[in-house]
Amino acid sequence: MVRRSHLVDCGYTQNDIRAALTSGELERIRYGWYAQPGAHAGVTAAVRSGATVTCVSALSFAGVWSPVWFDKLHDVVHARRTEYREQRTLPLQPNVHICANVDRDARPCRFALDAIEDALISATFCQPFEWLVVLFESVLHLQRLPRRRLEELFGSGSSRAARALAVSSEQSESGAESLLQLGLRRRRVRFRQQVRIDRDRVDSLIGDRLVVEVDGEQFHSSSESFEADRARDRRLIAAGYIVVRVTYWQVMSDLDAVLDDICRIVQRGDHLFPRR
Ligand SMILES: [Zn+2]
Repeated sequence: MVRRSHLVDCGYTQNDIRAALTSGELERIRYGWYAQPGAHAGVTAAVRSGATVTCVSALSFAGVWSPVWFDKLHDVVHARRTEYREQRTLPLQPNVHICANVDRDARPCRFALDAIEDALISATFCQPFEWLVVLFESVLHLQRLPRRRLEELFGSGSSRAARALAVSSEQSESGAESLLQLGLRRRRVRFRQQVRIDRDRVDSLIGDRLVVEVDGEQFHSSSESFEADRARDRRLIAAGYIVVRVTYWQVMSDLDAVLDDICRIVQRGDHLFPRR
């Protein structure tokens, strides 16, 4: 997706652009905007609607873990309208969702896709508290923005974004892990993340000995990691730990059942080493 002004800046003439349109190398999406064949349908729809892709959709393109990955079947692109009033009259394409943007004029839409900072700002208007935590934790874990910058953008006051940032850590390695930690916190179960036990490092440790591991989406993609995980479980169990392994889909689709079972173990006191 490219703006006409960018093509001109790169030295293309009016004739070059006309020739590319005739040959099918470029398609005109709206006034001043062109796409190459195979451009992402969602981005194309947003630009056709006079909008910029933002929020969870832009974050997903940037490799940040976002609910779009879970929700992709719905195929909706989150977008914000450009600063140009006349473009706001363009018909909204059916798969484009405009996120609330009260400070739209402070954030001009020069590109088809928002960078991480603007995408996060849009998300604070659109996403519930839990997903804000997931997004912040993913950005922090992937080191896409330093915490200091996030605090400048969102950290002050008692807004939902400030509260979400305050509970976000760098340690969650996936969105599913973030959601599980939030669930544990809601149930007032105390845990530590990324704990080293002898030669192994575990996702979460509850009490003395209850280890909770969240398998990633691509779990079992390599037999090497399958072997390594099983060997680690064996070492931990031999040392007296209880290992609970939950999958990405269990966290995403049945978190309450996962939390109920963890709470049953804690209520029995099995998360503590027996006192002799
Ligand atoms: Zn949104």
